[in-house]
Amino acid sequence: MSSLPTKQFKLFPFLEHVYVVPGNGGTANLQDVSNIEDVAANDYQRLVSLSKQLRVGLVVVGPDDAIVDGIADHFKDSGIPCFAPSKEAAEVEGSKTYAKDFMRKFDIPTAKYRNFDRYADAQAYLDDESTNSRIVIKVDGLAAGKGVVLPVDRAEAHQALKGIMLSGKFGSAGNSVVIEDYLDGDEISVLTLSDGRTTKTFPPSQDHKRIYDGNKGPNTGGMGVYSPVPFGSHDQMAEIDRKILQPTFEGLKAEGRPFVGLLFTGIMLTSSGPKVLEYNARFGDPETQTMMMLLSEDDFAAILLACTQGRLDQVDLNITPGFASNVVIAAGGYPEKYRKGDVVTLNDYPPDVQVFHAGTQYENGMLKTAGGRVFSVAARGATLEEAVATAYKGVEAIQFECMFYRKDIGTR
Ligand code: ATP
Repeated sequence: MSSLPTKQFKLFPFLEHVYVVPGNGGTANLQDVSNIEDVAANDYQRLVSLSKQLRVGLVVVGPDDAIVDGIADHFKDSGIPCFAPSKEAAEVEGSKTYAKDFMRKFDIPTAKYRNFDRYADAQAYLDDESTNSRIVIKVDGLAAGKGVVLPVDRAEAHQALKGIMLSGKFGSAGNSVVIEDYLDGDEISVLTLSDGRTTKTFPPSQDHKRIYDGNKGPNTGGMGVYSPVPFGSHDQMAEIDRKILQPTFEGLKAEGRPFVGLLFTGIMLTSSGPKVLEYNARFGDPETQTMMMLLSEDDFAAILLACTQGRLDQVDLNITPGFASNVVIAAGGYPEKYRKGDVVTLNDYPPDVQVFHAGTQYENGMLKTAGGRVFSVAARGATLEEAVATAYKGVEAIQFECMFYRKDIGTR
């Protein structure tokens, strides 16, 4: 994961030491934690040999590109358990055209769509009178969260399509596209652990995708989360499990691609039932920070290890009653070109707040910004209001030039 807690960090009893590649400002100065900055996160052979040398007992993979690239397959013969799906299973995230065809094959509810690998055909589909009036264009491959266009009209759709398929705005990731119907409703994120046989699902959460309050402005990687969502009723979650989650895991198994790891399912609750927006083959940021607040004092590493060993049925995922929330603090300019290198002041914050670092690093002993999303500040509460208010109290402890955060997380 790109972010780990700073204050109150204590190793789970099961762990002796944590190595983070490459790590950040949050993992730089902790006892029993070491950053390894001189190994590239995609130098898989080096990571395997280093893990052997350090006698690592469990590898947990965060970045989508390493997972989609098949890092788990590199660790397969090493004897070191690796918490990440195989390259084949990760295709549900790595190729949106594959994911849509997979959902169609296994009757998993999703928006009506067509896949295109020729610009002329996609263009003709946009011009076809029978095509839905509101559509969404999705780049097939990974695009750092920027490969989904929600055009307001056909002219914008044509322009976006041209950028993707003719001008190569997303490189080879844009060689094919999905064009699907726009879905209206409330969007939720569902995180499910799987060992290939057994699954365990965290409570549903809601991210705030747009940069500005009132859900305005461009899409981001996510600006804040709360969970559980009050509108995700028990019946609704049972329906999601029955119609979406179980068919997904069973389908992958039937395809010979059993999923071991964490599946993130983005779902739109439409008037005609829940529909899948996307799969991610990894922990979602910032949903995971909120999930970590909800997870009671279990040994999370032991749960992840159990997943890699097909023993998920033998461990409990104990969720604390109540609510949790996190507020993302971004660098000025994000999600477009953003500032880097601003000095961060981190004052004391309430003991029940957890500050997760994302884009931070130490330079000459000073904590500085180093990424678009810089921190996420998380808290728990008996009520949603309390969780959100405590998280915002924590935000007050952080200062850097041109920092930006939404003021309306969890208020809708
Ligand atoms: P990320 O990397 O941030 O997970 P992504 O690039 O994989 O995003 P999606 O999650 O598929 O893209 O889409 C991004 C956002 O666009 C969704 O969270 C949702 O808000 C919106 N979206 C996607 N598909 C649709 C749709 N069919 N109808 C309405 N909104 C949609």
